[in-house]
Amino acid sequence: MFSFTSTGGKIDSSINRGIVPYIFRQGVQNYHSIGSLLPIKGTEPKFFQLYIYDTENEISYRQKCFGEKDQSISIDSDIIEDIKLMSDSNNVLVRSYKMRGLLHSHICLFMNSDNKLPTVKFIDPIISVEIQDIIEDPKLYSFVNEFMIHGPCGAENMNCPCMVDKKCSKSFPKQFCNHSSVDQNDFSLSRRRNDGHFVEKSGVRYPSMVRLTFHLPNQQQIVYGEDDDIDYVLDKPSVAASKFTSWMECNVIDSEARELTYVEFHTKFVWILNGRFWKRRKVGKAIGRIHSGSPNLGEAYFLMILLNKVKGPTSFDEIRAVNGETHSSFRDACYALGLLDGDKEYIDVIKEATHSGYGFYLRFLFATLLMCNSMSKPEVIWENTWEYLADGILYNQRQRFKSPELSLGGDELKNLTLFKIEQNLL
Ligand SMILES: [Zn+2]
Repeated sequence: MFSFTSTGGKIDSSINRGIVPYIFRQGVQNYHSIGSLLPIKGTEPKFFQLYIYDTENEISYRQKCFGEKDQSISIDSDIIEDIKLMSDSNNVLVRSYKMRGLLHSHICLFMNSDNKLPTVKFIDPIISVEIQDIIEDPKLYSFVNEFMIHGPCGAENMNCPCMVDKKCSKSFPKQFCNHSSVDQNDFSLSRRRNDGHFVEKSGVRYPSMVRLTFHLPNQQQIVYGEDDDIDYVLDKPSVAASKFTSWMECNVIDSEARELTYVEFHTKFVWILNGRFWKRRKVGKAIGRIHSGSPNLGEAYFLMILLNKVKGPTSFDEIRAVNGETHSSFRDACYALGLLDGDKEYIDVIKEATHSGYGFYLRFLFATLLMCNSMSKPEVIWENTWEYLADGILYNQRQRFKSPELSLGGDELKNLTLFKIEQNLL
């Protein structure tokens, strides 16, 4: 039930006739018979296949190894579980097999100098560790989902073989980074953008994301029934302490919280729903995302912009304060901070959107801004963002003409991008 291999050689069973204690006698050369890594189709996993095949149902497979042959042997599944957990955390072989999961090879390529990838710009389109778009490439998405996702480990699964001293020894989940780079130890860090794609494994979502709600003063959302009494509704704890207002209250009492923006705050603090308060995060990581909004939202939109900048405010007034002066609106505070300088906000909107969307989405966004007629100088915004808006155009042309070497001049690329934007306007 817990062995990695079967024993090769000839076992002589004839010696046991039931009158003396069991004797194990083996002849010919002794060896370990390892066999296939995965069970043959239609058969159950055995030996070390049990360590890597469908590990979620490992216990029942282990029981089946014995139970089906001889119904008189029934082994307590709790005992199997205990032994399994012990070997998961202590047996070097088990740990290394479980961590591999999928067979893979490490290949070192020495590139001819003509083919070297000299800068990040060349490396990024080829090498990344990102979750695929399920609609654009469902097959690759399912491969990544099935074979390439580490864990779950951390608070969700303290028994994962990677866990050492209550921490993932492989440092998962990893930080996002927009471009490949090399750290101080010359260890390469591949591109890992926070593009909103996610997978769910054993009920745990990767990357875990918290939607950050915010609201204007006294405009917190309340859920109530049609027959609820108004006093009862106003007495609801969610009215007195929304996540957002409690964040500001936490800033009053916690000096560390005051150093953080609303998004950063969520990486260090966790919301305790029952008590409706924030507590320092001890385990796990989460990524905060503020609900995105458009300028049509008015003051709420300007509050959203400020929340990305202001650290540790203790009140709405403090969010509106710039250099000691409390402005009468969030919009004025944005102006005072230079955030609405000319069309800068639109440029920022497009640049910020590159974190969550591909070229076609950005072009759609630019077309929408044009239709809203709210940009004072669209050509300035175009000049500052066209390289982002052109994302994917070269790739599409290469696919279209089946020419991976195809290159486009700046003007060609601009024209094709404008053509695509125009299609959104028609
Ligand atoms: Zn881990």
